[in-house]
Amino acid sequence: MHIARRKTRQIKVGSLKIGGDAPVSVQSMCSTDTRDVAATVEQIRQLETAGCEVIRVAVPDDEAAAALPKIKAAMTVPLIADIHFDHRLALKAAEVVDCVRINPGNIGAWWKVEEVIKAVNERGIPLRVGVNGGSLERHLLDKYGWPSPEALAESALNAVHALEDVGFTNMKVSLKASDVHHAIDAYWLFAHQSDYPIHIGITEAGTAMTGAVKSAMGLGYLLSQGIGDTLRVSLAADPVEEVKVGFEILKSLELRHRGINVIACPTCGRVEIDVVKMANELEKKLGHIKTPLNVSVLGCVVNGIGEGKEADIGVAGGEGKGILFKKGKLVRKVPIEELMDTLIEEVELLAKEKEAE
Ligand code: SF4
Repeated sequence: MHIARRKTRQIKVGSLKIGGDAPVSVQSMCSTDTRDVAATVEQIRQLETAGCEVIRVAVPDDEAAAALPKIKAAMTVPLIADIHFDHRLALKAAEVVDCVRINPGNIGAWWKVEEVIKAVNERGIPLRVGVNGGSLERHLLDKYGWPSPEALAESALNAVHALEDVGFTNMKVSLKASDVHHAIDAYWLFAHQSDYPIHIGITEAGTAMTGAVKSAMGLGYLLSQGIGDTLRVSLAADPVEEVKVGFEILKSLELRHRGINVIACPTCGRVEIDVVKMANELEKKLGHIKTPLNVSVLGCVVNGIGEGKEADIGVAGGEGKGILFKKGKLVRKVPIEELMDTLIEEVELLAKEKEAE
């Protein structure tokens, strides 16, 4: 299936292009206390290793704002400051970060928003305008009766128009609802009335499994409709998991090809190797590989090599041994106890070969 992406304007967050013909980027947010620079930098390092392309940190007070220069200096991907309520924090953050996220609905008087615009303009950095079902303007709640998708879309459009009225266009927009249907409807309504790049996400999606499924349903639907220029999967889990799920969603839709794609059989009564353990270990140990590779782990040779034809490399169990194959062709037999290490070595090698091509 070819997905025709919706045409959006392009902005730059640091060196990363968002919107236009840029690939849909994956971002996450630190769960550490921003004031704890060491812990935040350590989490950023883990996120960068997992391939995270933009990282956001919460800036709830002056101490957190004061920590931003040290955090920024220790990272390679762009940094976004997440600001609520206090525009003074946005002004401080704008001196350091690559993008400032504000919710115009909770920043207060319009002059405060204008001061933020002035600050980001001085450094040429964009704003992320994030509207949220939990902080909609009173008149929209009165008009729609609840934070409906229509209310969210109208709130976002109002914010965009107000910013345009003062000549500001360097922005991307997000509309957050935790209900999958509501989020889809809100993004859909907005996307059909505006060409600003869109940050998609299902807010407070849930724990690792629940949140991954909800995000895959919501973001998967939007992306398949061409909506979404950057995404965050929100999970009540280690943010590294958010990055992994984000890339899996994009890889499933063939919008991005990054790193290894583990193809594992579901196992059945014929299984001869520990497929589940191997598949999990592969994902864990090979998460640093950026080269796109399909790696197959199949329980037996009955359908094994045939089913693994599409894989660049893989293993199958067979008659007390493991079988290593590449592109559906047998390479050699390997003792089962050496199978995992052999596969990891061979994948690393193949990734290096492909990188050099
Ligand atoms: Fe069963 Fe073998 Fe198919 Fe795995 S590859 S599901 S073990 S038949």
